[in-house]
Amino acid sequence: MIPRQGCSSTWRGVVFGSKLLTKGMKWRVGNGDQVLFWKDKWIDSLPPLFHEVPVTGADLESNVSEFHKDGWWDVAKLRCVLPDELIQKIICCPADFGGLLRDSQIWFPSSNGIFSTKSAYQLLFNESEWSDPWWKTLWKMKIPPKLKIFYWLVYQGKILSNEQRVRRHLTYDASCMYCGGAIESVLHILRDCSRARRVWAQLLKPHQATCFFLTELRPWLLSNMCSKDAVMQGPWKFTVVFACWFIWKWRNNHVFNSVIEMPFCPRLVIFSAVQDWIKALTITTKATVKTQVFLAWSPPVHGTFKLNVDGSRQAASGCIGAGGVLRNSLGEWNGGFAINLGIGQVLEAELWGLLFGLKLAADSRMSKLIIEMDSAIAVQLIQQHNLLLLHPLATLVSSCVGILNRFESYEIYHIYREKNTVADRLASWSHNLDLGLYLLHEAPDWLGSVLVDDLLGLSKPRMICVV
Ligand SMILES: [Zn+2]
Repeated sequence: MIPRQGCSSTWRGVVFGSKLLTKGMKWRVGNGDQVLFWKDKWIDSLPPLFHEVPVTGADLESNVSEFHKDGWWDVAKLRCVLPDELIQKIICCPADFGGLLRDSQIWFPSSNGIFSTKSAYQLLFNESEWSDPWWKTLWKMKIPPKLKIFYWLVYQGKILSNEQRVRRHLTYDASCMYCGGAIESVLHILRDCSRARRVWAQLLKPHQATCFFLTELRPWLLSNMCSKDAVMQGPWKFTVVFACWFIWKWRNNHVFNSVIEMPFCPRLVIFSAVQDWIKALTITTKATVKTQVFLAWSPPVHGTFKLNVDGSRQAASGCIGAGGVLRNSLGEWNGGFAINLGIGQVLEAELWGLLFGLKLAADSRMSKLIIEMDSAIAVQLIQQHNLLLLHPLATLVSSCVGILNRFESYEIYHIYREKNTVADRLASWSHNLDLGLYLLHEAPDWLGSVLVDDLLGLSKPRMICVV
């Protein structure tokens, strides 16, 4: 839909909103019967697959379910039609393989699949200047909100300098009222005007002064905002933001209130504002008290089995994998697995790990099960599975719950990593494997020492917050 030239702003808004809505919708695959493998958008971060690889007409109507096999993705079939880098993004996609859960359209920018204005804004700005890392850096800076907005406007060149006022036909004169001749640009006001230079001369250390006045507006703002330098009154980046703010205020006092002179010692005004702000920050930042605890894996009671699972993600490549182990009350190995899941998010890895661990336990006909994993979010998703509805990982969660309900009894707990070492090692090891699942009927030799640590109840230290 393209808005006609000269149409109303309301209509332009409707067209813009509908485009954004289309962009944010995707299929969450249930049993995969409704979703077209090639033509629909169903993989995170990817357009429909036919945009990615050449495909013939008849195949275009294939459903996603045609690429499922034995309760998971048919990796061999995927390998016939897609390159490995795409398969890596597909096999971590949750689905209700062969199940009854219907495919549904969800709003993917929000974590629960439900539309929210906030996530729509994020989607909008992710593809514009807001995704620029400078903006994130600015937003994370612990400075007063009004200064953040001011600095952002400065970066956009949108504060009303005379240069800007001429552009908007508010005046004919772009020169600086203070020093005369030059065009009063944003950079002139904040740095290059003789009045601003008086302020910076009081703030800059000699080694900073050489290149401080050389760069253009944005590199200048960026380099100062990201500076790790510290001066007496606090971080240099705070000083710069506060200084820009005051220089702007003093300039406006001159233009609008005819207050020609700045404070006698601008440095003192800026320093004291920075110090007051830092003091306020320290008071509001909650003090956290940590204490050391010792944690060890413990076997389940007699007649019960314990499943430890874990997911792993390599930050650089985005590769994910999972692993898990089943042990009895004597700490003996009753089966384990590792799975290479391609490329995805860590929560997907955790839930896939849980699903394959549960399958392993169910196939071994265990009736009483205790599950431990170190992802609190995954445990929470399982416990609140009824509320998920449109959650992007709802199919995976519901598959796990489906298997859990087959046990006579089960308990699921979030534990710290120190109690989950064996599963953690298996998950990390999965990155060395080819895509897919590897069942481990016997404990691998390289896990020997970690397993013995668990058998002996060897505890590992961890610092935890107590306040
Ligand atoms: Zn000037």
